[in-house]
Amino acid sequence: MSKYLPIGKFSFGMGDRFGHQGKAQLQACVMATQLGAEFIPVWNKSNREHSFIGTEPSSLRAEADAAVKALGWKKSYHVDADHIRLETVDRFLAPSDFFTIDVADSIGKPAAAADVKAFVDRHPELAGKVSVPHIAQPLDISRAEVERVANKFLLAVQDAGKIYRHIAQAKGEANFITEVSMDETDSPQTPPELLIILAALADEKIPLQTIAPKFTGRFNKGVDYVGDVKQFEQEFNDDLAVIAFAIQKYGLPPSLKLSVHSGSDKFSIYEPMRKALKKFGAGVHIKTAGTTWLEELIGLAEAGGDGLEIAKEIYAYAMEHVDEFCAPYASVIDIDKKKLPPASVVNGWSSKQFTDALRHDQKNPAFNPSFRQLLHVSFKVAAKKGERYYAALKKHEAIIAKNVTENLFERHMKPLLLDK
Ligand SMILES: [Zn+2]
Repeated sequence: MSKYLPIGKFSFGMGDRFGHQGKAQLQACVMATQLGAEFIPVWNKSNREHSFIGTEPSSLRAEADAAVKALGWKKSYHVDADHIRLETVDRFLAPSDFFTIDVADSIGKPAAAADVKAFVDRHPELAGKVSVPHIAQPLDISRAEVERVANKFLLAVQDAGKIYRHIAQAKGEANFITEVSMDETDSPQTPPELLIILAALADEKIPLQTIAPKFTGRFNKGVDYVGDVKQFEQEFNDDLAVIAFAIQKYGLPPSLKLSVHSGSDKFSIYEPMRKALKKFGAGVHIKTAGTTWLEELIGLAEAGGDGLEIAKEIYAYAMEHVDEFCAPYASVIDIDKKKLPPASVVNGWSSKQFTDALRHDQKNPAFNPSFRQLLHVSFKVAAKKGERYYAALKKHEAIIAKNVTENLFERHMKPLLLDK
C-alpha cells in the first residue's frame, strides 16, 4: 500500500459557503475536544459550491489556516476538495490535503469485460459464504453476484484509481488523505457490495481512509433523516463490520472509516451511530455543509435591524424562484409548498418568529422544515448580494459566531460522541 497522510479517528467536515465562519466552526472542535470528544476539523467545499459562489479553492485553505492560527489549534486539520473528478481536481491540488474522489457518475457503466473477469478470478474469497466478524449470518455471495457488482462498480473504482494517481503524482502520496464517494447515486450500496468495492479499491492500491457510500433513507438538506432508523442502524453496523474485515483482508489503511455525507443535521441517526462506533471502536468522518450557512441567516435574523432585513430579502427572493432553486436538489429536499409562508407574511415577522421557523429545534412547534430547506438551497441569493452580505456578516459577527459554534457543538458533536 502506498504511503498516506493519516487522518484522526474522528473528524468533522465543515462547509462554509461564504468563508467567514472558520473560527466559529473551529471553536466547536475546541469545545468538543475539551470534553474528550476530539474531532479533527476538515473544511470542505465542493467544486459546485465554489462555482456557485465564485470562489477559488485556495480561499478555503486561507480560511482554515487563519482560523487555526487565531485559535492556536495544535492538532491536525485538513482542507477537503469535496466531490472532485479528474476534470475538476487541478485547481484543488495545491491548497487541499484531503480529496473526495467522486465516482458516482461511473457507477453502472460497465468496465472492460476482461477486467471484470480478472477481478472475479482474482477474488475467489468473495464468492460463497463469507464470514465477517460481527455480522450474524455469513454473507452469501454467489460468483454471479460478485460479477454483477463488479460490472456495476469496477469502472468507478478504476476511475478512482486514475484520479488518485493524478493527485499522488502532483502532491506526493504521503501528503494527502483519500476519500472515495459514491453517495450521489440512485440506490444505496449494501454491505456485501461495500466489501466487493473495498476489495477493488485495494486492488487499485488506493490508500483509502474514508469511504462515503450511499446509505438507505433520505438525506435531505439541512433537516433530519427520513427513513427507517432501525434499518439504517443495521446497515451502519454491518458497514463497520465490513470495513474492519476489509482492512485486515486487503491491507487497507487501519484508519479507514466511513464518511457520512449527511446533508447536515441527521439528528435521529446520531445515537445509533454513536453506539455502533463505540461497539466497534471505530472512527467516523461526518460531513456537513449547509448547516453553517443557515446559522449565518439565523444570526442575521437574530441581530434584528438590517440583519433581519437581509434575511427577509433572501427569503422573498427565494420564494420568487422556488422551482428554479429546488430543481437541482430534487433528490435531497422535500419541501411542502403549502407550508411556505408568503413573503408578505415573513416580511412582518420579528427576529424571534424568523429564527423559530428556521432554527433546527424539532421541539419548537414553530420550526418549519419547508422554510428551512428552501433557505438551505437559496445560498446563491446571498452570493448575489456580494459585498452587502459580507458586510452584514462582519457587522454581526459575534451573534452569528455564537449560533455557528453552538449548532455544531451542541446539536452535532456532542450527540455523536458523548453519552447523554
Ligand atoms: Zn456527498
